[in-house]
Amino acid sequence: MLEQLCPCCSGKPFDSCCRLYLSGKAYPGKAEALMRSRFSAFVTGNLPYLRKTWHPDTCPELTSEDLNTQWSRLEVIRSKPGLKKSIVEFKAWFVEDGTERALHEISLFKLYKKRWVYVEPLSEWP
Ligand SMILES: [Zn+2]
Repeated sequence: MLEQLCPCCSGKPFDSCCRLYLSGKAYPGKAEALMRSRFSAFVTGNLPYLRKTWHPDTCPELTSEDLNTQWSRLEVIRSKPGLKKSIVEFKAWFVEDGTERALHEISLFKLYKKRWVYVEPLSEWP
């Protein structure tokens, strides 16, 4: 059987990439890895993981309807790692009506209880 590649487009096998985080065996030590694992959580429909990795102040009420998007691939454009705050710019591609479109976002991540969590989108690169 062929090894399943990670949905986050890292080129690594799923088992040695985001699955480690999605299964709870490990927690991403870097904001970019967290961002990638959240994309994989959207792809695989892992709502508990999305809640766990969202800052409690900004986490919306997530339902299975939030998982209806047909994600196709992830493209990390740049990231700015920091000690307590990190920023990642990416394009998350999805298919709608047979056309591939991208959600382009600059995301803010913060260290919360010693773990990286997603906070919110920023309007521009700082
Ligand atoms: Zn991955």
